[in-house]
Amino acid sequence: MILDVTDFSDGHVLQSDVCIVGAGAAGIAMALELIDSGIDVLLLESGGLGAEPDAQALYQGTVQNEQLHSPPDRYRQRRFGGTTTIWGGRCMPFDPIDFEARDYVPHSGWPFGIEELSPFYPKANRLVEAGAFAYTAEEAFDRPSRPMIAGWSPAHYTSNTLERFSCPTDFGTRYGHKLRAASNIRVVLHANVTGLHLNAAGTHLDSLSVRSLKGRSLSVRASRYVLAAGGLENARLLLANRDVHAQGIGNPHDVLGRYYMCHIAGTVGALKIDRPLDDVWHGYDMTDDGIYVRRRLALRPEVQRASGIGNFIVRLHHPRITDPAHRNAILSLLFLAKLIIPYEYGKRLHGGESADLQTWFRHMGNVASGPLDAAAFAWHMFTQRALAARKFPSIIIKSKANLFSLDFHSEQQPNPQSRVSLTGDRDALGMPRLKVDWRYTSGDVDTVSRAIALLSGDINETKVGRLDYDASQLEMEMTRYGAYGGHHLGTARMGTDPRSSVVNARCRVHGIDNLFLAGAATFPTSSQANPTLTLIALALRLANDLKEGRA
Ligand SMILES: Cc1cc2nc3c(=O)[nH]c(=O)nc-3n(C[C@H](O)[C@H](O)[C@H](O)COP(=O)(O)OP(=O)(O)OC[C@H]3O[C@@H](n4cnc5c(N)ncnc54)[C@H](O)[C@@H]3O)c2cc1C
Repeated sequence: MILDVTDFSDGHVLQSDVCIVGAGAAGIAMALELIDSGIDVLLLESGGLGAEPDAQALYQGTVQNEQLHSPPDRYRQRRFGGTTTIWGGRCMPFDPIDFEARDYVPHSGWPFGIEELSPFYPKANRLVEAGAFAYTAEEAFDRPSRPMIAGWSPAHYTSNTLERFSCPTDFGTRYGHKLRAASNIRVVLHANVTGLHLNAAGTHLDSLSVRSLKGRSLSVRASRYVLAAGGLENARLLLANRDVHAQGIGNPHDVLGRYYMCHIAGTVGALKIDRPLDDVWHGYDMTDDGIYVRRRLALRPEVQRASGIGNFIVRLHHPRITDPAHRNAILSLLFLAKLIIPYEYGKRLHGGESADLQTWFRHMGNVASGPLDAAAFAWHMFTQRALAARKFPSIIIKSKANLFSLDFHSEQQPNPQSRVSLTGDRDALGMPRLKVDWRYTSGDVDTVSRAIALLSGDINETKVGRLDYDASQLEMEMTRYGAYGGHHLGTARMGTDPRSSVVNARCRVHGIDNLFLAGAATFPTSSQANPTLTLIALALRLANDLKEGRA
């Protein structure tokens, strides 16, 4: 059932077997997995069923450098469904190499290999509605599918791995009715967890304090607790509760909040492919089960090891929108539409770059020179994105000259200096606000520059075309938009040693026998992959541990 804090009197004590804090991707996936398990589940959600500015304002905080990282109330949503209410839906699992301890990636290594998540990935895939768990062209299609560039096999990259796309599924809208109907699940909205109360020895979580913005206070007593409040908020909750442990819960060795990773992403270069137009395919395909998929170029794992660099993928992309020199009516139309595109998507389309009047006129000129292209594109976006239940995932513009830029998405190395911490400011519930100090390392720059150099070499050697880029500008390009917005990883990392991690291999906070974390805060490394599929797989694994008494 779905309840609201106002359904309980002030001071009421809620009891349950398992209490999950946060109804986003991780929290809802866990609750769904626990339906009919015989376990009584309480799912506490800060927000309501829709967006509410005063709940969203609880996420406000500061950033060390706004060029490098957006304010913390951007790129996450404090409402039922969490950030899946605005996510893009790009899905792929982590690669086996991501779990390895690699001596050239400091602090790398998960306490297990991919085989530990393999049983849960297919179900995670179903929850995000991305169809079969088939992430290569050979697995996804019975028939031969279109290659990216016909007959081209680069030495350092593969081009047969796929990204699959969720609707994108809003977990609140999609699964609310299931949670409402489940007799063993109680969702409580407008329930902000503020206090985590440990026993005197600091080894067991006794209860939670819950407050609403309208002044109602409740307590929760459960046997086991899971924090699923998001990659930044899980760390904030643990850091803020210092009654028993002076540095916060799970933080005796000052690891909590550190190793904060996003992804390094950007758009570089001009790639001219010397092949007939029909030999090049950089757009979406649809699988037989109706899922949009897209190929990308992925740096081979053996090349990563030999070169000593992190994981990396690149997609063929349209030229930079802001520069009217592309003379493309559709790109200019997108530039002119910047005022109606949400911040979380507009930032990467426009990069926060200001444009003078002349630039605006040149974009208008481009649109005027291709009104039919612009109108066809606007109609496509309206019918296939705005109106469609399964949305066309992103803007794809077929180049009439086989001219592309490279859109890369790169692993960010874990770095203890990249961190979140608490400030002296407090939110409306008295919780200390977050300060984000995201940093990248020379190793991150190295991964991007060497991976692009290897691709450039592949292109030259195979004579498939020519890649022009300015190697001296790569660091600027990889930070042009700052850290990749919605991916918040590593702030409560997983490991076997409490001196260098916050949770153990089963996501239990070291030293606390009944407190678990779900979400990307536990990721020790970031992969090239977007995080949501993997964090859902981990959450399903944790739900099964709870069901089967392993946790
Ligand atoms: C614009 C955008 C595009 C994205 N695109 C992709 C993509 O294509 N692919 C991908 O893999 N990922 C993508 N992501 C990231 C994805 O949305 C997140 O990885 C995912 O939502 C994280 O799930 P979560 O459950 O950990 O956190 P969330 O979904 O953020 O859920 C956390 C929940 O906890 C609640 N909460 C917080 N604090 C408290 C508290 N104190 N008490 C009670 N409840 C609380 C919040 O209200 C929220 O409902 C994108 C993100 C953004 C912003």
